[in-house]
Amino acid sequence: MSAAPPEATPPAPAPSAAASLHVRHRAVMPEWLALYYREPLELTHGEGRHVWDVQGRRYLDFFGGILTTMTAHALPEVTKAVAEQAGRILHTSTLYLDRHMVELAERIASLSGIPDARVFFTTSGTEANDAALLLATTHRRSNQILAMRNSYHGRSFSSVAVTGNASWSPTSLSPLQTLYLHGGVRSRGPYAALSDGEFIAACVADLEDMLGQAHGNVAALIAEPVQGVGGFTAPPDGLYAAFREVLARRGILWISDEVQTGWGRTGDHFWGWQAHAASGPPDILTFAKGIGNGMSIGGVVARAEVMNCLSANSISTFGGSPVTMAAGLANLTYLLEHDLQGNARRVGGLLTERLRAIAAGLPVVREVRGRGLMAGVELVRPDGSPAPEAASLALEHARERGLLIGKGGREANVLRIAPPLSLTVAEAEEGAAIIEETLRQVQHAEG
Ligand code: PLP
Repeated sequence: MSAAPPEATPPAPAPSAAASLHVRHRAVMPEWLALYYREPLELTHGEGRHVWDVQGRRYLDFFGGILTTMTAHALPEVTKAVAEQAGRILHTSTLYLDRHMVELAERIASLSGIPDARVFFTTSGTEANDAALLLATTHRRSNQILAMRNSYHGRSFSSVAVTGNASWSPTSLSPLQTLYLHGGVRSRGPYAALSDGEFIAACVADLEDMLGQAHGNVAALIAEPVQGVGGFTAPPDGLYAAFREVLARRGILWISDEVQTGWGRTGDHFWGWQAHAASGPPDILTFAKGIGNGMSIGGVVARAEVMNCLSANSISTFGGSPVTMAAGLANLTYLLEHDLQGNARRVGGLLTERLRAIAAGLPVVREVRGRGLMAGVELVRPDGSPAPEAASLALEHARERGLLIGKGGREANVLRIAPPLSLTVAEAEEGAAIIEETLRQVQHAEG
């Protein structure tokens, strides 16, 4: 007698052709994927600092994709490089050499400040941090990592294990042992009233205390110079130099996660670590986001001795892919030739000043902080507690007025402003005027 066929699961009803992209998206993608806006936005194209939605509405993009559009949308130099390379060959794999890959590695190695630097390309920031953690734990023969509270380093199993906020790090089943340090958030709690010097001393004491609790060897400290998803918070300049002194005495490596802070975004420096320059460069630097201007490039830089500690053959199938490398090279060349770091410093400085002036009369704004074109506006309720609902409302109101901004922070109450680094003064003014109207409306709603 033949067994009854297994009962088939009835297929989910297919959404009708007329269903919106949002409805179709919810039917086939994970519900934990983050989407901005009550009515999610469907974008069709961009140019310069602007993007257009499917209804033909134009928006000034004050989030640069997600800090990915570093120079400008549809930058002709990048588009041309991509088109030309796509017409030649799409993929070769890192088994073979490609001129763009080697040239981009040379440029990044020399810009990194790391002596005897080697570059390994990945396809995302997460993968870059994974590679950095693999290098550090192998080199140091330890699975203990130091990370900062309120940090974000990606969404893989090892990068969530060093992400210091449970809501961005949804598992505690970590392959690494992570000790979390103070230094990320200063705005509230016992550290708020300390001077910069006192704050650094307190954080160093915390580091020493944590090292006392570790089981012998510690592999590395991983940290963002300015916390990105954490709400654009930066410790006082010099914190990582002070940390470095303690770490170097024990041979512990310092990984600077420059996924958001690289390429001149912070204005005064090309890399975030340079605000702590007394320390010299980090042992390992990771990058992604802006270098490809939207193409998926990530990577890790380390001195040869660290990079070469892996014994197994290791390739990344798509890391260093020629089309992305051609884009990265064209993008980096444009950025350097047009001094976009200088532009980030000048225009970012004006924008932050303007935002501070706007905030002065609005109790809903607790703080405006900024470095170059990386500005955070922290929103609070009348009782001073974090106001995530105000941040969500601000995004909606700004969108209605034709401006896209981001949000973040431990309590999701920080507006994040990070336009392409080619932002003009006129565009900064235009965006600031929209933010002013938006914040007034939010202030009204919050009371
Ligand atoms: N590191 C930092 C500092 C980030 O902000 C992010 C992403 O936002 C990542 C790593 C992960 O990068 P990706 O999303 O490219 O994997």
